[in-house]
Amino acid sequence: MANVALSEVSKSYGSLEVIEGLNLQIEDGSFTVFVGPSGCGKSTLLRMIAGLEPITKGTLQIDGKTMNQADPIERGVAMVFQNYALYPHMTVEQNIGFSLRMAGLTKDEIASRVAVAAKTLQIEPLLKRKPGQLSGGQRQRVAIGRAIVRDPEVFLFDEPLSNLDAELRVSMRVEIAKLHNQLGSTMIYVTHDQTEAMTLADKIVVMRAGKIEQAGTPEELYDNPDNLFVAGFIGSPR
Ligand code: ADP
Ligand code: MG
Repeated sequence: MANVALSEVSKSYGSLEVIEGLNLQIEDGSFTVFVGPSGCGKSTLLRMIAGLEPITKGTLQIDGKTMNQADPIERGVAMVFQNYALYPHMTVEQNIGFSLRMAGLTKDEIASRVAVAAKTLQIEPLLKRKPGQLSGGQRQRVAIGRAIVRDPEVFLFDEPLSNLDAELRVSMRVEIAKLHNQLGSTMIYVTHDQTEAMTLADKIVVMRAGKIEQAGTPEELYDNPDNLFVAGFIGSPR
């Protein structure tokens, strides 16, 4: 678990400012969900927190430590991507263990940590398969397994379920909620699915054009949206 604090965080690509002076406190062990229209900067923000994209201005702190320059391992974060980003030529076991191999862990340490992750996600029977031999839901479990195995303080999810069919989305949503309860890690989650946002979130952050439009609990945003834009993402105004 770790808290994450953004102060005056901005991101520019050339002259285009895609994140503008964002301020946000994300509590230890909380589940924070970002929603907002395509292109409003959700993925960019996650990539900056993950250390995959430099922060142009402002400060990112994790557990009170400034992390602007730190690599993803030092930050204690792991990211799960929408397109799974699995290595097609590696088995499930090798995919899940890859980051540990890069970090120089021994074969035995890797095997035992992969086994724990596989058990948590109930994918033990799949360990010798390659991604091409898996269903979409199974691939997404492997992608989550790759994050879990690193035992991160903070999980970052970028629309992890959007490529799955409706039924699988519901069951994976329940799995992710269970995982959050079980691990107690801080989770930061991007989705365009209103039900996912309402059911998973402790706090929902509605973004619009690189800024925070409104942030609050699902109930606060549902009952008291500041404007029609927020209401459109969360539910109808009364
Ligand atoms: P979202 O995830 O909310 O759909 P993104 O974070 O992907 O939005 O993109 C935010 C804005 O930044 C968009 O206008 C997008 O075109 C722009 N953008 C994202 N990545 C790059 C990049 N590498 N170079 C230039 N512009 C980018
Ligand atoms: Mg995105």
